[in-house]
Amino acid sequence: SFPSGKKITVVFVIGGPGSGKGTQCAKIVSHFGFTHLSAGDLLREEVKSDTEQGTMIKNLMHEGKLVPSEIIVRLLLKAMLASGNDKFLIDGFPRNEENREAYEKIIKIEPEFVLLIDCSREEMERRILHRNQGRDDDNMETIRRRFEVFQQSTLPVIQHYEKMGKLRRVL
Ligand code: AMP
Repeated sequence: SFPSGKKITVVFVIGGPGSGKGTQCAKIVSHFGFTHLSAGDLLREEVKSDTEQGTMIKNLMHEGKLVPSEIIVRLLLKAMLASGNDKFLIDGFPRNEENREAYEKIIKIEPEFVLLIDCSREEMERRILHRNQGRDDDNMETIRRRFEVFQQSTLPVIQHYEKMGKLRRVL
Protein backbone atom coordinates (compact mmCIF):
# COMPACT_ATOMS: atom_id res chain seq x y z
CA SER A 1 0.00 0.00 0.00
CA PHE A 2 0.97 3.68 0.03
CA PRO A 3 3.73 5.04 2.24
CA SER A 4 2.05 6.72 5.19
CA GLY A 5 2.53 10.44 5.69
CA LYS A 6 2.44 11.12 1.98
CA LYS A 7 -0.65 13.04 0.96
CA ILE A 8 -2.36 11.34 -1.96
CA THR A 9 -4.94 13.24 -4.01
CA VAL A 10 -7.71 11.34 -5.74
CA VAL A 11 -10.41 12.75 -8.00
CA PHE A 12 -13.09 10.49 -9.45
CA VAL A 13 -14.63 11.20 -12.84
CA ILE A 14 -18.06 9.72 -13.49
CA GLY A 15 -20.26 9.98 -16.55
CA GLY A 16 -22.52 7.84 -18.72
CA PRO A 17 -21.20 5.78 -21.61
CA GLY A 18 -20.01 8.17 -24.33
CA SER A 19 -20.16 11.25 -22.08
CA GLY A 20 -16.55 12.14 -22.88
CA LYS A 21 -14.85 11.08 -19.63
CA GLY A 22 -11.66 10.01 -21.35
CA THR A 23 -11.45 13.13 -23.50
CA GLN A 24 -11.99 15.50 -20.56
CA CYS A 25 -9.51 13.63 -18.39
CA ALA A 26 -6.78 13.85 -21.01
CA LYS A 27 -7.17 17.65 -20.97
CA ILE A 28 -7.14 17.98 -17.18
CA VAL A 29 -4.15 15.69 -16.79
CA SER A 30 -1.90 17.58 -19.17
CA HIS A 31 -2.56 20.77 -17.17
CA PHE A 32 -2.28 19.64 -13.57
CA GLY A 33 0.19 16.77 -13.39
CA PHE A 34 -2.31 14.09 -12.51
CA THR A 35 -1.96 10.48 -13.53
CA HIS A 36 -5.04 9.49 -15.48
CA LEU A 37 -6.34 6.00 -14.80
CA SER A 38 -9.34 4.75 -16.73
CA ALA A 39 -11.17 1.80 -15.17
CA GLY A 40 -12.34 0.68 -18.62
CA ASP A 41 -8.81 0.89 -20.09
CA LEU A 42 -7.33 -1.09 -17.19
CA LEU A 43 -9.94 -3.80 -17.78
CA ARG A 44 -9.36 -3.83 -21.55
CA GLU A 45 -5.65 -4.25 -20.85
CA GLU A 46 -6.44 -7.16 -18.53
CA VAL A 47 -8.56 -8.80 -21.26
CA LYS A 48 -5.49 -8.91 -23.53
CA SER A 49 -3.73 -11.20 -21.06
CA ASP A 50 -4.98 -14.61 -22.04
CA THR A 51 -6.06 -15.70 -18.57
CA GLU A 52 -9.27 -17.09 -17.13
CA GLN A 53 -9.87 -13.76 -15.41
CA GLY A 54 -9.29 -11.97 -18.73
CA THR A 55 -11.95 -14.08 -20.43
CA MET A 56 -14.41 -13.50 -17.61
CA ILE A 57 -13.88 -9.73 -17.83
CA LYS A 58 -14.23 -9.80 -21.63
CA ASN A 59 -17.60 -11.56 -21.41
CA LEU A 60 -18.99 -9.19 -18.77
CA MET A 61 -17.88 -6.14 -20.76
CA HIS A 62 -19.41 -7.55 -23.92
CA GLU A 63 -22.71 -7.86 -22.05
CA GLY A 64 -22.38 -4.31 -20.73
CA LYS A 65 -22.31 -5.59 -17.14
CA LEU A 66 -20.00 -4.43 -14.38
CA VAL A 67 -16.92 -6.44 -13.48
CA PRO A 68 -16.62 -7.55 -9.80
CA SER A 69 -15.39 -4.64 -7.69
CA GLU A 70 -12.53 -6.52 -6.07
CA ILE A 71 -10.93 -6.97 -9.52
CA ILE A 72 -11.15 -3.35 -10.61
CA VAL A 73 -10.01 -2.02 -7.22
CA ARG A 74 -6.94 -4.30 -7.24
CA LEU A 75 -6.08 -3.13 -10.78
CA LEU A 76 -6.44 0.50 -9.70
CA LEU A 77 -4.23 0.04 -6.65
CA LYS A 78 -1.55 -1.71 -8.71
CA ALA A 79 -1.57 1.08 -11.33
CA MET A 80 -1.49 3.82 -8.67
CA LEU A 81 1.51 2.31 -6.93
CA ALA A 82 3.31 1.64 -10.22
CA SER A 83 2.89 5.27 -11.34
CA GLY A 84 4.93 6.73 -8.48
CA ASN A 85 2.67 9.80 -8.65
CA ASP A 86 0.62 11.22 -5.75
CA LYS A 87 -2.24 12.75 -7.79
CA PHE A 88 -4.79 10.61 -9.58
CA LEU A 89 -7.73 11.22 -11.82
CA ILE A 90 -9.69 7.99 -11.83
CA ASP A 91 -12.24 7.80 -14.60
CA GLY A 92 -15.16 5.40 -14.85
CA PHE A 93 -15.07 4.73 -11.14
CA PRO A 94 -16.92 4.15 -8.84
CA ARG A 95 -19.78 2.82 -10.95
CA ASN A 96 -21.85 1.29 -8.17
CA GLU A 97 -22.05 1.14 -4.39
CA GLU A 98 -20.06 -2.10 -4.36
CA ASN A 99 -17.18 -0.33 -6.20
CA ARG A 100 -17.26 2.47 -3.66
CA GLU A 101 -17.29 0.12 -0.66
CA ALA A 102 -14.44 -2.02 -2.06
CA TYR A 103 -12.39 1.15 -2.68
CA GLU A 104 -13.04 2.39 0.86
CA LYS A 105 -11.97 -0.97 2.25
CA ILE A 106 -8.87 -1.53 0.11
CA ILE A 107 -7.49 1.86 -1.02
CA LYS A 108 -9.10 4.05 1.66
CA ILE A 109 -8.15 7.44 0.18
CA GLU A 110 -11.11 9.78 0.42
CA PRO A 111 -11.61 11.55 -2.97
CA GLU A 112 -11.10 15.35 -2.95
CA PHE A 113 -14.18 15.64 -5.15
CA VAL A 114 -16.10 13.82 -7.83
CA LEU A 115 -16.53 15.25 -11.32
CA LEU A 116 -19.77 14.34 -13.04
CA ILE A 117 -19.66 14.78 -16.79
CA ASP A 118 -23.28 15.54 -17.55
CA CYS A 119 -24.45 14.79 -21.05
CA SER A 120 -27.80 13.97 -22.66
CA ARG A 121 -28.52 10.39 -23.57
CA GLU A 122 -29.07 11.28 -27.26
CA GLU A 123 -25.66 12.95 -27.41
CA MET A 124 -23.93 10.03 -25.68
CA GLU A 125 -25.57 7.54 -28.03
CA ARG A 126 -24.62 9.61 -31.07
CA ARG A 127 -20.99 9.78 -29.97
CA ILE A 128 -20.66 6.07 -29.25
CA LEU A 129 -22.17 5.11 -32.58
CA HIS A 130 -19.85 7.50 -34.42
CA ARG A 131 -16.59 6.74 -32.67
CA ASN A 132 -14.60 3.93 -34.19
CA GLN A 133 -12.45 2.50 -31.45
CA GLY A 134 -13.07 -1.10 -32.40
CA ARG A 135 -14.77 -1.76 -29.06
CA ASP A 136 -17.06 -4.75 -29.15
CA ASP A 137 -19.30 -3.13 -26.51
CA ASP A 138 -20.06 -0.17 -28.82
CA ASN A 139 -23.09 -1.84 -30.40
CA MET A 140 -26.78 -0.95 -29.92
CA GLU A 141 -27.64 -3.85 -27.65
CA THR A 142 -24.67 -3.45 -25.31
CA ILE A 143 -25.10 0.33 -25.29
CA ARG A 144 -28.69 -0.11 -24.07
CA ARG A 145 -27.46 -2.32 -21.25
CA ARG A 146 -24.69 0.14 -20.32
CA PHE A 147 -27.26 2.95 -20.04
CA GLU A 148 -29.40 0.78 -17.76
CA VAL A 149 -26.42 0.05 -15.55
CA PHE A 150 -25.64 3.76 -15.38
CA GLN A 151 -29.21 4.60 -14.33
CA GLN A 152 -29.63 1.78 -11.84
CA SER A 153 -26.17 1.42 -10.34
CA THR A 154 -24.20 4.62 -10.89
CA LEU A 155 -26.88 7.20 -10.05
CA PRO A 156 -27.00 6.07 -6.38
CA VAL A 157 -23.23 6.63 -6.09
CA ILE A 158 -23.60 10.09 -7.63
CA GLN A 159 -26.32 10.88 -5.09
CA HIS A 160 -24.08 9.67 -2.28
CA TYR A 161 -21.33 12.15 -3.24
CA GLU A 162 -23.87 14.88 -3.78
CA LYS A 163 -25.08 14.43 -0.19
CA MET A 164 -21.48 14.65 1.00
CA GLY A 165 -21.03 17.94 -0.91
CA LYS A 166 -18.32 16.37 -3.06
CA LEU A 167 -20.03 16.43 -6.43
CA ARG A 168 -18.99 18.89 -9.15
CA ARG A 169 -21.05 18.87 -12.32
CA VAL A 170 -19.49 19.64 -15.65
CA LEU A 171 -21.60 20.13 -18.76
P1 AMP B 1 -15.81 2.38 -20.14
O1 AMP B 1 -14.52 2.23 -20.88
O2 AMP B 1 -15.72 3.33 -18.99
O3 AMP B 1 -16.96 2.72 -21.06
O4 AMP B 1 -16.13 0.93 -19.51
C1 AMP B 1 -16.36 -0.17 -20.36
C2 AMP B 1 -16.85 -1.39 -19.56
O5 AMP B 1 -15.86 -1.79 -18.62
C3 AMP B 1 -18.10 -1.15 -18.73
O6 AMP B 1 -19.29 -1.27 -19.50
C4 AMP B 1 -17.97 -2.28 -17.70
O7 AMP B 1 -18.31 -3.53 -18.27
C5 AMP B 1 -16.48 -2.28 -17.42
N1 AMP B 1 -16.12 -1.34 -16.32
C6 AMP B 1 -15.55 -0.12 -16.46
N2 AMP B 1 -15.37 0.48 -15.27
C7 AMP B 1 -15.83 -0.40 -14.34
C8 AMP B 1 -15.92 -0.36 -12.92
N3 AMP B 1 -15.53 0.71 -12.21
N4 AMP B 1 -16.45 -1.44 -12.28
C9 AMP B 1 -16.85 -2.51 -12.97
N5 AMP B 1 -16.82 -2.61 -14.31
C10 AMP B 1 -16.31 -1.56 -15.01
